Amino acid sequence: MDKLSLAYAQQMDKEDPIASYRARYIFPQHNGTDCLYFCGNSLGLQPKSTKEAIVNELDHWAQYGVEGHFKGDNAWMYYHKLLTPSCARLVGAKESEVVVMNTLSTNLHLLMVSFYRPTETRFKIIMEDQAFPSDQYAVESQVRFHGFDPADAIIEVKPRSGESYIRTADIEQIIRAEGDSIALVFFSGVNYYNGQFFEMKRITDVAHEVGAVAGFDLAHTAGNLPLQLHDWDVDFAAWCSYKYLNAGPGGPSGVFVHEKHGNNPDLPRFAGWWGHDEESRFKMEKGFIPMQGAQGWQLSNAQVLSFAAMKASLDIFDEVGMDALRAKSLKLSGYMIDLIDSIEGGSFFKLISPRADTIRGAQLSMLTQDGVGKKLFDYLTENGVICDWREPNVIRLAPVPMYNSFEDVWHFVDLVKKWLVENA
Ligand SMILES: *Cc1c(COP(=O)(O)O)cnc(C)c1O
Repeated sequence: MDKLSLAYAQQMDKEDPIASYRARYIFPQHNGTDCLYFCGNSLGLQPKSTKEAIVNELDHWAQYGVEGHFKGDNAWMYYHKLLTPSCARLVGAKESEVVVMNTLSTNLHLLMVSFYRPTETRFKIIMEDQAFPSDQYAVESQVRFHGFDPADAIIEVKPRSGESYIRTADIEQIIRAEGDSIALVFFSGVNYYNGQFFEMKRITDVAHEVGAVAGFDLAHTAGNLPLQLHDWDVDFAAWCSYKYLNAGPGGPSGVFVHEKHGNNPDLPRFAGWWGHDEESRFKMEKGFIPMQGAQGWQLSNAQVLSFAAMKASLDIFDEVGMDALRAKSLKLSGYMIDLIDSIEGGSFFKLISPRADTIRGAQLSMLTQDGVGKKLFDYLTENGVICDWREPNVIRLAPVPMYNSFEDVWHFVDLVKKWLVENA
C-alpha cells in the first residue's frame, strides 16, 4: 500500500491496539468535526470521565460539609494518596518517593530550597539553554536569594552552532569541566521548545561524579515517555499534570524526592501542616515533625477538585500503561516525520527536534521560514488545526498517542501540502 495514502493511515489506525482510547476524550470542534488537535504538550484534552469525577466531590461536599475530610468514600484528609500509586508508576518511583501538591513552579522553588544549597565555592547551576521561562526565572531568583549573581552562577549548555539541540557529550564535558563548583545540575526531561529528551541517567551520573545534585523538570516528560527516576538515581523532580497528563488547566504538580533524601532531617525545607506527621497533625501542636518521604514536603491540604480531575485522567494512564503509549508514540511521530519529509518543496518546514527515537518524545518542532511560517500557521488554524506557534518562527506539534490518530497526522500534512500548492 502507498505509504503516503489516506488508506495507509486508516490501516495503521485499524492496527493500533490502543486506538479505542481516542473515544474517551472530548475534542474541540471545527465546522462540526473534531479539530486536528496537536497541542497536548500545552494542554491535554479533557477525558469524558473528568466531569463526573469533579461532580462527585461537589456532591461529597454538599452531603458532608466539613465532615467530608473524614467521612464517605475518598475522605479528603487522605485524598492526595489516591494519586500516589499512579504517579509512582508514571515516573518509575517508589510510592514513598512521590506526592502530588501545589503547582509546578511553586514546587521547583520548594525543591530548590532543599536541594540547591550553595556554598562559597560550590554554587553553580548547570542547565539547558532555552529552558522554559518559569524555570529560568525560578533558578535566577534562587541564585539571587542566596546572594550570588546569575551571571556567575548559571551556566547554560547550548547546541553547537548550526545544530538545533544539545549533545549529551557536551553536557557531560561542561559538568566535568566545572566540577566541584557545581551545586546543582537542573535540566528538563523534554525541552519544551525543540522536544529534545535529555539522557537523564547519563546527566545524573555525571552530576553525581562531581558531587552535585541532579534535578529535573518533567513538565513535558511525564505521560510522554516511560521514566525510571528511582533506578536512575535522580535526586528530585517535579512535573505538571495539564500537558500530557490531561488533568485540566492549572492542574496540580507531582513531585519526586529520591528515597535516599526523603527522611533526611538535615535537609532544610519550607514546612506546612500537610507535611507534618499525619497522626498528630490535628493536635495542632508546636514542633514540625515531617512525614516520611516525599509527603513531608507538602504544605497545604489537598486541592480536591483539581486532584479529582487528575485522578480521572491517571486512571486511564493506568489502564493503557506508558509502554503501550510510548510504542504508539514512536510510530505516530515517526509517521509524521515520514509524511513531512515527503512534502515536495517543503524546505520551509524543517524539523528541529531530534530524529533519533532515544532522544525525543512525542513533540516535533518545525522551524519555518521567516515571514512564511506565520501565514502557514494561520492557514492551519483556519482549517481546524490546533497546534502552537512560538516566536520567532517555530510550530510545535504533538501527536499524542493517547488520543491522536494516524489519520489526524495524514490530514494535517495534507493541509500543509494544500497550502503549499495555493501559495507556490
Ligand atoms: C509548562 C511548564 C511550566 C509551567 O509551570 P506552572 O507552574 O504549572 O505554571 C514550568 N516549567 C516547564 C518546563 C514547563 O514546561
